[in-house]
Amino acid sequence: MAFVILEPCQSEKSGECTTVCPVDCIEEGPDQFYIDPDICIDCGACKAVCPVDAIEEEYDLTPDQEVYLEKAEAFFGNN
Ligand code: SF4
Repeated sequence: MAFVILEPCQSEKSGECTTVCPVDCIEEGPDQFYIDPDICIDCGACKAVCPVDAIEEEYDLTPDQEVYLEKAEAFFGNN
């Protein structure tokens, strides 16, 4: 499982999440920040500091939010 960054990041991109992630698995993409789902250890630190509440746990995603997990996997070249 992993945490996933959703649409609210696209108008914010403040990046606090990158400074708190203990495994350094969050990178800035062209439209938003992305979490590498293969490296994320589900600690929740990023979600706690996000100013726009853009981060959710993978298993809490609604069907229309699952595209953001797919975008993250594509960004990092994961399958
Ligand atoms: Fe990093 Fe923890 Fe957020 Fe995963 S849940 S991206 S390990 S800060």
